[in-house]
This record gives sequence, C-alpha cells and structure tokens, in this order.
Amino acid sequence: MARNYSMDRRAYLSALGAGTTVALAGCTSITGGGSGTITPGTAPGFQPFEFRDGGELVGFDIDLVEAVVAETDYELGEWQTFEFDSLIQALTSDKIDMIAAAMTITDERDETIDFSDPYYSANQSVIVREDGEFSPSSLDDLSGHPVGAQSGTTGETVIQSQLIEEGKLEESNYNSYDNYVLAVEDLQNGNIDAVVVDEPVGATFADQRPVTVAFVYETGEQYGFGFRTDDDDRTEAVNAGLQAVRDNGTYEELRNEWFSG
Ligand code: GLN
Repeated sequence: MARNYSMDRRAYLSALGAGTTVALAGCTSITGGGSGTITPGTAPGFQPFEFRDGGELVGFDIDLVEAVVAETDYELGEWQTFEFDSLIQALTSDKIDMIAAAMTITDERDETIDFSDPYYSANQSVIVREDGEFSPSSLDDLSGHPVGAQSGTTGETVIQSQLIEEGKLEESNYNSYDNYVLAVEDLQNGNIDAVVVDEPVGATFADQRPVTVAFVYETGEQYGFGFRTDDDDRTEAVNAGLQAVRDNGTYEELRNEWFSG
C-alpha cells in the first residue's frame, strides 16, 4: 500500500534519531528535526482540476496533492484560495508553500518560481455558444470577434501573442476575466463570442453549459506544481511523492476518477 511506504520511512527515520540528516538511496534526502508543512494554494473555478462542490474544494489537483504529500514527510496544510493571477505572489510572499492550480510550466514563470516535474499535459481549446451561429475552426477566424480568457493564463497568452500582436485582433476585442467561470457566463450571455481555455476545462464547460468546443489549438503545455526557488526540500519531496503515486497506481486511479475521456 502506498501510504505504508511513508510510514515505514518515517519509522525508519525516527529509529535513526530526530535531528539526523539522512539520504536514503533512491529517495529524496530528508532533513531531520521534524517535518514541516506544505500549505497549498489554488484557484477554484477550473473544473475538473479545482472547483467548489457545495462549498467544498474538490478536484483532480486537490486529490493528487493530498496523495502526493502523504508520500512525503510533510504535513498537508489547509488549502488557500486566490485568483489565478495572484498565486505566484501568494507563493513568493509565503502565504502558501505550493501552487496546485493546473499551472503550465512556462519559461516566464520559471524565472520567478520553481516547478515540480510535469504531472499533466494539455492544449488550449476555443469554446463558443452551442447555437452554432459562430463556429470558428482556427484562431484566425476569431478576427473581429470579442473573445475572453482568464487573467494571467496561457489562454490569454495565446490571444495576445497569436492574435493581438499579429494584428489579427483589436486589443479592445480582448476581455480579461478574474475567473474563467465569469468568462463563460459572458460567452453564454452573448457579450463575447469565444473563450480560450485549457482543453480539459473547456470540455467540462461544454458538458455542463450550452457551450461547445469549436476547435483545439495545440500548445503542448505541461502542468507543474509551483514552489519558491529557494525551497528545494519541498520541491524534491513532492517530486518523489509524485513518482510514488505514479508507481503505485494512485495517479492513474485519480485520472480515471476525474477525467472521463
Ligand atoms: N494552464 C493555464 C495556465 O497555466 C490555466 C491555468 C488556470 O487557469 N488555472 O495559465
């Protein structure tokens, strides 16, 4: 069983005596003297990765972090929630110790924070109203249409770099939202004609609302958990935990639970 591994290791470490620094072959090195806490932060409204269900924070990232941290010598702290574009600041100002928010590993973010090993791959999707009046099949087709994305996301970067900077979309046609749920509501209301959002989330919106995925724009993104650049201990512990949940089948179980396709 997965959980026994860390229990065994903990028992082993305490047998060695608290305060001893040990490195186990094949494991991350663990600093003795008491394990710390990992307080995770996320941005709900990004189903199925993190969202509220009757007030409770649930989702693939939530379950995955719980399973991963259980494999480490860290305690899982209480989840903190922020707007997506405030997460990096929350991390660097010590409000949280880890970002778990379907965050794509990008070079730009990597200048400010460290990422764990990748744990999920995704592309972008362009979603539109289900009525079929506007059914774009490429980014170019968005020309002249009001479009939306969530502030600080890679979806926003696609709109900026592929459309606005290319002169294909007026800046005034771009609408930035604090949260994708608000963007999709504006899409349903007819205030905008398309939303650019990570494909698994676009597909979930399409399952639950009168919107549909018009097309997928391949970006080949990889999600990682975010850490402070000086926090190699947590980063390494979580990488080892991630490997452990992949090896023991928990990762696959959670994928099957949260993703139908
Ligand atoms: N994966 C996208 C990004 O990192 C969107 C993440 C999100 O909105 N939670 O920008």
